[in-house]
Amino acid sequence: MNTIHLLPDLVANQIAAGEVIQRPASAVKELLENAVDAGATKVQLIIKDSGRTLIQVVDNGKGMSFTDARMCFERHATSKILTAEDLSHLTTKGFRGEALASIAAIAQVELNTKRAEEETGTRLLVEGSQVKEHAPAATQDGTSIAVKNLFFNVPARRNFLKSDAVELGHIEEELNRLSLIHYDVEFSFYHNGKLMQQLPQSNQKQRIINVFGVHFKDKLYPVELNTEAIKITGFIAKPENSKKRKNEQYLFVNNRFVKHYLLTHAIETAYKELIPEGHKPAFFIDITVPPATIDVNISPTKIDVKFQDDRMIYAFLNAAVKKTLGALSLVPQIDFNYKPEYDFSAVKQQEHIKSPTLTLNPNYSPYSCKSDKNISTSDSWQQFLSGVKNETIKVQSAEPEKLAFTEEDKENEAIIDETQLKCLFCSDAYLLFLWNDVLHIIDVKAARERFLFEYFLNALENTPIVIQQCMFPETITLSASTVEMVNDILPELRALGYDLEQIGRTSFAVNGTPTDEESSNTQQIIEQFVEMYKTHQFLHKTDKNSAIAKSLAKQKCSCKLQIASEQEQQAFIKQWLQCKAPHISPSGKKVSKSFTNVEIQKFFE
Ligand code: ADP
Ligand code: MG
Repeated sequence: MNTIHLLPDLVANQIAAGEVIQRPASAVKELLENAVDAGATKVQLIIKDSGRTLIQVVDNGKGMSFTDARMCFERHATSKILTAEDLSHLTTKGFRGEALASIAAIAQVELNTKRAEEETGTRLLVEGSQVKEHAPAATQDGTSIAVKNLFFNVPARRNFLKSDAVELGHIEEELNRLSLIHYDVEFSFYHNGKLMQQLPQSNQKQRIINVFGVHFKDKLYPVELNTEAIKITGFIAKPENSKKRKNEQYLFVNNRFVKHYLLTHAIETAYKELIPEGHKPAFFIDITVPPATIDVNISPTKIDVKFQDDRMIYAFLNAAVKKTLGALSLVPQIDFNYKPEYDFSAVKQQEHIKSPTLTLNPNYSPYSCKSDKNISTSDSWQQFLSGVKNETIKVQSAEPEKLAFTEEDKENEAIIDETQLKCLFCSDAYLLFLWNDVLHIIDVKAARERFLFEYFLNALENTPIVIQQCMFPETITLSASTVEMVNDILPELRALGYDLEQIGRTSFAVNGTPTDEESSNTQQIIEQFVEMYKTHQFLHKTDKNSAIAKSLAKQKCSCKLQIASEQEQQAFIKQWLQCKAPHISPSGKKVSKSFTNVEIQKFFE
């Protein structure tokens, strides 16, 4: 006896619905996408009870004919592709022709639609895949689809729904995902009769601000890259605006919101060292590639994408984000000049940056501090200061050929107008100052660690620290495991000013040290530094140079620094302001907090 039979439409559609429509937000996504695919410029989303009783989308798109209105609820019914070939040049959101059939199988659906070129429209009622009414009707141009009592015949799904707040959150998120890329479409969103969001047609930056609030206004920086194979546009948020939660990360591929672990990684790693560990940068990035080089037909919800060459995309994306972050190194200056009444776009702000005239003196080692407890700590500060004085002179007389940094670094240097800088208070731990009328407080140790980290990294990658050769080399003795480590990083230690030479199984001659450092301290510095480096290597898988620079910066910061005179304080602040990423210490601690006049006023209002 034969036992195989074709499933009735309702059952087949309900099975498909199981995959496509998991919750009210999935229906919202499909309906909104259809509206955009229909070329709508105005889309209304009307929700009741977090989508349990009503999900309605009204658009002014091209509408459907009388027959199409009936056809659209059939499974595998689509106007968007004809052949499998068409899958390789998709420009629409939908193509599987299963969303409306799925929704109609598990809800009561009312469709009103009219094509502008036709006299009358069509009204259609479907319930559990059964057409209840199909008649001409007077209706406005475009399409309105109302989905009532979703899951009315699938109690398991209905009971599985989360609280109203959670479901509403998912719906909002779907609207965000679509509206953040289709910013040329006007969206309005009502919940239980209340207007929740009104998004007029705009550019992308304005759309982001409209969705997430005005506080995003000065946080967004454009990302742009244009090659034949890939076009990247969009915005990223400043590193200091990173958050613990991932909820402001939007990646679009050919106008479709996608989740892609590798590409998210490409963006996040560009922020490495700039944001605290565990924090997530906000981004809104649109990638455009030839449709034939991607496959979106991987999951029924079309949220995943497969690239022909994801390594290439990774490299381009990472480079594009790094480029923007590089240009952001002047963040403190831009911030401090912030006047709320002006609305400079990010690009304009950068145009205001004058060409650099300041450079660091590569010949001095700032912040070197003696670990010997008998030596006053301010002693080392004097050394630092002498270097800064040296630098101040250079500010006026800098000759291009003597500049210490590469061309690229020069671009990143700021001009610091001393007259705008006023130090107010300094304790062992914090420094409070006014700069360009903005009040700043910095954590001295974290700021120092940040400066040293960048200084050492520059020594390792660009300009080695000048070594002062020792007339009578001291000998240092290290443990066996330390010896191995030291031998592994001898060239790096040399770039940092330490010229060591192994002379016995566990002993090294100190042939040279950084210019202002006593060779008698080398034993302790190297021992502590290697210890930190070992731990660092073990815990984090950062690259070698960065691990070395971090560890040495940390070692140098292990003794207290006293910043007594105003001159010292000014010098310290200036050094900090030169940093590429001043707001975060290399170990991920916050370095500074600033308050504008307006913020202070607001606080006391
Ligand atoms: P898909 O979007 O994958 O084609 P759907 O089931 O979502 O499948 O929709 C089926 C068809 O119904 C679409 O291909 C389109 O022709 C038509 N359609 C759906 N929604 C609308 C709309 N809002 N305006 C005009 N046509 C629509
Ligand atoms: Mg669709």
